[in-house]
Amino acid sequence: MSETVDAIVLGAGIVGVSAALALSARGRAVALIDRLPHAAGETSFGNSGIVQTEGVLPYLFPRAAGDIARAAMNRDPRAHIRYRALPSIAPAIWRYFLASTQARKLATGKVMAPLMAAAAEEHLKLARDAAASGLLRKGGWIKAYRSERGRDLAHGEAEELKPFGIRPAFLDRAALTALEPNVGEKAIGGVHYTEPLSTPDPAALVRSYAALFAQRGGRMERGDALSLEPSGAGWTVKTDSGLVAARDVVIALGPWSDELARRFGLSLPFFVKRGYHMHYEAKGNAGLIRPVLDLERGYLVTPMAQGLRLTTGAEFARREDPPSAAHLERVEPYARELFPIGARKDATPWLGRRPCLPDMRPVIGPFPGKPGLWLDFGHHHLGLTLGPITGRLLAEMICGEAPFVDPAPFKAERFGSR
Ligand SMILES: Cc1cc2nc3c(=O)[nH]c(=O)nc-3n(C[C@H](O)[C@H](O)[C@H](O)COP(=O)(O)OP(=O)(O)OC[C@H]3O[C@@H](n4cnc5c(N)ncnc54)[C@H](O)[C@@H]3O)c2cc1C
Repeated sequence: MSETVDAIVLGAGIVGVSAALALSARGRAVALIDRLPHAAGETSFGNSGIVQTEGVLPYLFPRAAGDIARAAMNRDPRAHIRYRALPSIAPAIWRYFLASTQARKLATGKVMAPLMAAAAEEHLKLARDAAASGLLRKGGWIKAYRSERGRDLAHGEAEELKPFGIRPAFLDRAALTALEPNVGEKAIGGVHYTEPLSTPDPAALVRSYAALFAQRGGRMERGDALSLEPSGAGWTVKTDSGLVAARDVVIALGPWSDELARRFGLSLPFFVKRGYHMHYEAKGNAGLIRPVLDLERGYLVTPMAQGLRLTTGAEFARREDPPSAAHLERVEPYARELFPIGARKDATPWLGRRPCLPDMRPVIGPFPGKPGLWLDFGHHHLGLTLGPITGRLLAEMICGEAPFVDPAPFKAERFGSR
């Protein structure tokens, strides 16, 4: 059996589901294809759940010699390097290092700011239409610090965000515990980003958006994106229910996107920053109200439907390297100092992969030289935040509308890699 639609979206994480919804809202018949039976089965399943609208400035690779040495020796708990992976991942890390300058950080901040400014509203609209407003909570999130050095770091970060109109609240210990009474005494203060939203269940949120897509007539199919082939004036993909054809195809395969891009001749400096999560029982009745980052140790704890979810920072490894408990085990003792976490609730840590490009901007726009093929991936630490708004931007481009922001800073050609 074969079926023809207007557009195929490959990948049903937050990015693909959002692109599919934005296209169907513009009257396109869309097939959303994933190798898994339901949406949000990979990275979008287990993240920290913050719609992190203050995150306009990218995370940089360390540049100071002392910081590099600490990171290289796995002495900085904010990151973890799998040494065996180094020969394969070193070129990508080098590109990331080169892109990690103050000037490029500010340039990226400038182009990310208008996306971030519209990101929460786009989520709220989708959640309202999906009857899932209860899955988005207000109250922001907190970067807690343990020392004067941490305070300087947190305040310095806040200062850098001022030109973007971001005005957090500065908390001493008393103000911190007024908001989060169960944060341990090693936390001496924090910076509260008040505007971001968070979700107690990122997978449920994305699945509610996928259900909205189905309700609006969209079809979700199981199939392998790597079966994509040009055909006549468009493209075909094999699915469990037959061949699906369309004029337009969106690659939204998150951390697996580069594989398909390479097949069609586009080689990008793509890499992943892996991260783990583990759920914990809350000790007694102590909990958290909003996500809290232990700034100097680089892990986050978010109150989730499943328990208190600890998420780790960046593990530098190959995408398909087997999971390792090492990073979680490095930070868990710190988390026990600061948060009311009891027994582990999951048998093994969950592993996710943040899809990254060295300038920490996603790739949004046409596939160079392949009419009808579109790119929507590389949302790094912020895919939950950016999925809906970049879905809108891409749909505007596909449908020939005036894009609400200039898409040029997100095009694939910026790496000059064709
Ligand atoms: C620990 C951690 C914490 C995070 N916290 C946050 C946060 O608080 N806020 C935030 O904004 N972001 C956060 N992120 C980042 C965010 O989760 C990602 O950027 C986002 O989920 C990426 O979404 P995606 O749709 O691009 O990829 P994915 O969710 O991985 O979706 C890709 C889809 O492609 C499918 N696929 C792959 N290959 C094929 C194939 N060959 N055929 C068919 N289908 C295929 C997969 O099955 C999958 O469903 C975090 C990430 C991690 C790891």
